Amino acid sequence: MTHFSDLGLAKPLLAALKSKGYETPTPIQLQAIPPLLEGKDLCGIAQTGTGKTAAFALPSLQYLMNNPKPRAPLTCRMLVLSPTRELAAQIAQSFRDYGRQMQVRVETVFGGVPIGRQIKSLSSGVDVLVATPGRLLDLIDQRALSLRNVEIFVLDEADQMLDLGFIHSLKRIDKMLPKERQSLFFSATMPKTIAELGDRFLTNPVRVSVTPESTTAERVQQFVTFVNQKEKQALLTIRLREEPIDRALVFTRTKHGADRVVKNLQASGIPCAAIHGNKSQAQRTTALQAFRNGEIRILVATDIAARGIDVSGVSHVFNFELPNVAEQYVHRIGRTARAGRDGIAISFVDGEERAYLRQIERLTRVQLEPVPLPEGFAAVVASLPKPKQAPATAQRRHEEARRGGDNPNANNAKRRRFGNRKPGGVGAHKGAIRKTGGR
Ligand code: AMP
Repeated sequence: MTHFSDLGLAKPLLAALKSKGYETPTPIQLQAIPPLLEGKDLCGIAQTGTGKTAAFALPSLQYLMNNPKPRAPLTCRMLVLSPTRELAAQIAQSFRDYGRQMQVRVETVFGGVPIGRQIKSLSSGVDVLVATPGRLLDLIDQRALSLRNVEIFVLDEADQMLDLGFIHSLKRIDKMLPKERQSLFFSATMPKTIAELGDRFLTNPVRVSVTPESTTAERVQQFVTFVNQKEKQALLTIRLREEPIDRALVFTRTKHGADRVVKNLQASGIPCAAIHGNKSQAQRTTALQAFRNGEIRILVATDIAARGIDVSGVSHVFNFELPNVAEQYVHRIGRTARAGRDGIAISFVDGEERAYLRQIERLTRVQLEPVPLPEGFAAVVASLPKPKQAPATAQRRHEEARRGGDNPNANNAKRRRFGNRKPGGVGAHKGAIRKTGGR
């Protein structure tokens, strides 16, 4: 078995890993750390949950440590680009954790919070800057930052960057980076457009891949229930009550949809919160914190806001609506089954969404296992108070989805062991669906 110490990592990093309780490197760490320590460029196909943050943070920190330089005002030595604020904050925290025994200054800059404090934090220069592209460019335009001293550049979650319409920002940033640098490029999927984007940034990269392109996380047991859109709320309420849930993420396609689901669940006495692009950063942070520390076990999210969520112990992912981009399904279900655990993904599919389901099954090469509606579901639905529905029609839903749902910048339409989990979840086991047969 290979240990971190076999990879050539320095003592302060090994100590930090030990204090985090990490004993053995994950596959992406095994593949990426040695070439990165040699200063090579790297193109990685890896989903979140594979340990890719440490794969790039550890060798980079070692480089910074072995090549000390005084900080120059308004510059950074390493730039990490992340598509979302949450992921940026998480990456920065990982750098601080791994670099705890080093004199490394890590800052984050992202939108949705006042820029003044960020300008101040950059004034004396930083070692590692983790940024979302939009705010980074704002700061550069305001002459609060220059990229001229960047020695290591990381573009994380490249596929999501493109989905979010960041392509022009990325091209601008590319032009400002020094030619002489080490570049790292990560994406969960590597279709042609992403590979072409990677070519812009990389020189002779080492290629590593920890999951074949677009394969769904293997440990996630995937189920589908066919249900009318307007009955999904009732089904979700039932499932959340009966499933032995540790933590569940519920994905909706739109921000309004997420708010509606939260209102209806709360009205049914199920504590939960929403996280999406219309919420302030403070609201997003509070909701995520409550989810992390177990105050709430249900978080309702849109794709974009959920992107950076790394919360251990997410037992279930519910797709209240299927994403209209199949790759997004892979990201969603990747929120569960993290760090070697099992996970369950349950998708609610209305007639209009069957085409999306076909695309997902084609991409993942996994057929979702059908789970019937609960017994007596029609009677339950009939007896319930009418859930708050969208005032709009399928047409509006379609248009919202076409605009990119939660994403104002979008430029493209974008087995469980039912009943076998440990008790103490949100719901009781009693009504949980029984899985029939093995897979
Ligand atoms: P990432 O893919 O970077 O989001 O990491 C997924 C999760 O795995 C994070 O919670 C990390 O802290 C954790 N992790 C990273 N490397 C290891 C390791 N070698 N052993 C155990 N957990 C790890």
